[in-house]
Amino acid sequence: MASQRKRSKKEEITDSYEIQCSDEQPSDTSSREDARESNLKKFIGAHVSISGGIWKAVDSSVAMGGHAFALFLGSQRSWTRPALTSAAADAFKKNCTKHGFDALHILPHGSYLMNCGSPKEDVFCKSQAMLVDELSRCSALGLKLFNFHPGASIDSSPEKCMEKIAQAINHAHQQTPAVITVLENMSGQGSTIGGQFSELKTIIDRVRDKTRVGVCLDTCHAFAAGYDISPPGGVKNMLDEFHCAVGMNYLKAIHLNDSKARALSMLNK
Ligand SMILES: [Zn+2]
Repeated sequence: MASQRKRSKKEEITDSYEIQCSDEQPSDTSSREDARESNLKKFIGAHVSISGGIWKAVDSSVAMGGHAFALFLGSQRSWTRPALTSAAADAFKKNCTKHGFDALHILPHGSYLMNCGSPKEDVFCKSQAMLVDELSRCSALGLKLFNFHPGASIDSSPEKCMEKIAQAINHAHQQTPAVITVLENMSGQGSTIGGQFSELKTIIDRVRDKTRVGVCLDTCHAFAAGYDISPPGGVKNMLDEFHCAVGMNYLKAIHLNDSKARALSMLNK
């Protein structure tokens, strides 16, 4: 019987806290549009490419039946990026409106080059400037959330690293309007910050505008960092720990990823 069926991890996560994702797989474009306009409480989608123009990311999400999507805002391999033209931003916004995407269901992912907690002054300055640039692009695109990896302490202390990350966020908030900076929990690999939920809270505590900071919970990273969601009830335990350490009010999105590595492996893969 269905009621006796073992609940999947995704069901545990979505049922526990009514998180934004959906199992619905409408069969054609018109039903997808209908679903997007209905009263969905859960929104799910993939990370989509911006190849050929950032507005094409919207089409890619629609083509796969997404009700949400993630994207990069530029090349992940370069500190310098071509400016976002107003024509490209307008085309993106029009496409979002056309297909009924709410800005709260679109989660841009920050460049992997950024390390806002770097002890190296040049890397910190470049990262801080890139964070401002990323938030400015979000504003131009009409987006409200921006997700990024907090940073790594390299050869400094975790405390100094967290202080610098908060400093970069406060600086970016001063330079740009409205966009919410969304910290991602990490696997704890190397000197990365954010393996423990309490580290995210330490950063949040130092961010002046609490309305502009949140968390994206990555299930692969959490599992690798030691939050074992594999046994029954494991997801609820993890979410309870998150609620105690950070608070569900800060949860803005979930990266629902599988993990190749074992729990407590500290590996991000
Ligand atoms: Zn990430």
